[in-house]
Amino acid sequence: MDNMNQDDALVREKLMEIDTALLELLDGRAAITGHSGKRIDDADHYSKLLSNYEGVYDADFVQALLESLTDASSRQASAEEPPPLLVSRAHQSADTIIRIGDAEIGGNAPAHIFGPCAVESYNQVAEVASDLKQKGLKMIRGGAFKPRTSPYDFQGLGEEGLEILRKTKEAHGLAVVSEIVAPEHVSMAEHQLDAFQIGARNMQNFELLKAVGRSRKPVILKRGMSATIEEFLYAAEYILAEGNGNVVFCERGIRTFEKSTRNTLDISAVPLLKQASHLPVLVDVTHSTGRKEIMSDCAKAAIAAGADGIMAEVHPDPAVALSDRAQQMSLEEFDKFYFSLI
Ligand code: PEP
Ligand code: MN
Repeated sequence: MDNMNQDDALVREKLMEIDTALLELLDGRAAITGHSGKRIDDADHYSKLLSNYEGVYDADFVQALLESLTDASSRQASAEEPPPLLVSRAHQSADTIIRIGDAEIGGNAPAHIFGPCAVESYNQVAEVASDLKQKGLKMIRGGAFKPRTSPYDFQGLGEEGLEILRKTKEAHGLAVVSEIVAPEHVSMAEHQLDAFQIGARNMQNFELLKAVGRSRKPVILKRGMSATIEEFLYAAEYILAEGNGNVVFCERGIRTFEKSTRNTLDISAVPLLKQASHLPVLVDVTHSTGRKEIMSDCAKAAIAAGADGIMAEVHPDPAVALSDRAQQMSLEEFDKFYFSLI
């Protein structure tokens, strides 16, 4: 190596050393500026810094250089940390109260929702409605669109079912809630119902979630039968992201190996959801347990775990019900259940 090349190599080595040290210092700087909520390299900082500086760079250049480093590191930090989900406690710490007619879900007192599995006739719904009204309840549920495992089973009365619910509301003064299963049902059902229900089978029907999200009507969102808590939260987020903040979670049991119950009621979902989210939580003891003899105990457990209310199915004559015959309570059974709960 001649002398010139030797000098070059030494300079390169020295430069590498300095730049490496410089990068380490810049990382240390970014750790402070990048994650701080407010700008700490303010005018005061620069005037102090530059008053002692006697180097080769002019003051404007030094300030612009350091400011651009701060901008770059805070841009990077905010790209790493997405804003908290709208459903989360980090976004809103106070509990959300959802109003469905005169009922308040998520307030101080539990708000329950009962009614038949499916709307079968006006008289059938009306009989349940007068019982609920006598008990001082404020809402009734009933399916007009029934997502059934077999296509040969009763699929619900559809629009006629919604009409029956509207008449029930007029005659009994109860708020009416029913499941919708397709985005086009939103406009069809909006004027008949006080709240939409999204069933377990549709928890991740994202187009349906977006469609109810564009409405302002409350939505009772049931947990998918194989959905994790995280997926449940994200499903609700779809609705909130479209502008509808009126969402109520409903734990309805998940699929496990256990055969003694229709599904496994995941009680832990209640405190998990309540801690993760400001939205209220209901527990459906009918579809989770499928067993009338344990519904009262499970309902009490749900309330003890922090649930904001219970959902259960009631039919004037379960033996002839067109769906969920084995698990709907008769009015007598419902009496016992209800008075054990309050
Ligand atoms: C229902 O509540 O009517 C129903 C069908 O429940 P799920 O969607 O939880 O099965
Ligand atoms: Mn049912």
